[in-house]
Amino acid sequence: MARKTRSKSRYRRIVLKLSGEALRNRVTGLSIDPAIAMSVAKEVQSALDMKTEAAIVIGGGNIIRGAAGETRGIGRMAGDYMGMLATVINGLALRDALGRVGVEARVQTAIRMDQVAEPLIIGRAMSHLAKGRVVIFAGGTGSPFFTTDTTAALRASEVDADVLMKATKVDGIYTSDPQKNPRAKRYRELNYTEALKKRLKIMDASAFSLCMDNSIPIVVFDFFRRGNIRRVLEGKAVGTVVS
Ligand code: UDP
Repeated sequence: MARKTRSKSRYRRIVLKLSGEALRNRVTGLSIDPAIAMSVAKEVQSALDMKTEAAIVIGGGNIIRGAAGETRGIGRMAGDYMGMLATVINGLALRDALGRVGVEARVQTAIRMDQVAEPLIIGRAMSHLAKGRVVIFAGGTGSPFFTTDTTAALRASEVDADVLMKATKVDGIYTSDPQKNPRAKRYRELNYTEALKKRLKIMDASAFSLCMDNSIPIVVFDFFRRGNIRRVLEGKAVGTVVS
């Protein structure tokens, strides 16, 4: 029988930004659905199968976002710390799911909690990656008033990633909201300044500018279509590349 040829990845090391919403079951409302976490884990595994090193920055929006908490009467600082802790909860769920599909993973947190996860040590993260382990960066930046998008841009810069892959529900960046305007067109490519000028609500400005300063391309893609990580790694026409 002919051996299945493994397609080649155009990126050596990726940072995947996953929103906490990626773990939520939108039908049942369950914040962390183990079955969904498993399917996320399988997608990540497909990147490793292409000999790509993969780090993940996980959000916490399925549990709490500081800014949203503020409108409901939780102080911004408290809400932001709650949000950062939520990312740790998600990180543990994701590590568990990765383990179930046979992928070795480590969680590193920007807020120390040594019984739960490794502290953030970039050098150690890099050596995990070199050993084929997935590193899940949790706890955001460790400081309030940031988002996990900015965290992802920061970690991508720190681990010298070749790309920041931003997982979304839509396949890339469009000229206008494709859900409202059926004539909206997807950009195949954009440059950072255009993306910033258009005030595209895909990532916050600080995340964009960090990537721009460190020349890290951002791929915005529909993570929820099975096989899309692999397609991006193969360089197929998926999503939008901001570079
Ligand atoms: N957060 C923070 N500092 C950070 C990263 C996150 O204070 O460096 C808080 C903030 O309140 C944020 C919440 O954690 O709303 C969850 O992160 P985010 O909203 O980015 O999660 P996502 O939308 O990706 O699920």
